[in-house]
Amino acid sequence: MTGDCPSNLGDYSKSVKEKSVVNLQGGLNTMAKARGKVAFNEDLCKGCELCTTVCPVNIIEMDRTRINIKGYHPATVKEMDKCIGCGNCATICPDVVISVEREMEK
Ligand code: SF4
Ligand code: SF4
Repeated sequence: MTGDCPSNLGDYSKSVKEKSVVNLQGGLNTMAKARGKVAFNEDLCKGCELCTTVCPVNIIEMDRTRINIKGYHPATVKEMDKCIGCGNCATICPDVVISVEREMEK
């Protein structure tokens, strides 16, 4: 009887892992996607670039073509359709330049 244990546990463990994968994949397939819209109060931006370091989809950059009232190149988002609305950029900005609107896609 004890000889069966490792094999049974192994089968059980394998079965649980397989079910987990199936459940995870099912969950991912049905999970709603989030979309975000980011707005910059750009004259408050001091060009520290912190927000560019925390975006998981790398869509924040400094706009080298413009200079704000403080004399800095302001942060901007070029591909807003890629924003997932995580809010990281707004959270890290020390000067409260950024606001994020988040909505779920249907
Ligand atoms: S809300 Fe998130 S995904 Fe959108 S720009 Fe900010 S850090 Fe990037
Ligand atoms: S973190 Fe804020 S102040 Fe710094 S570059 Fe980004 S928007 Fe500008």
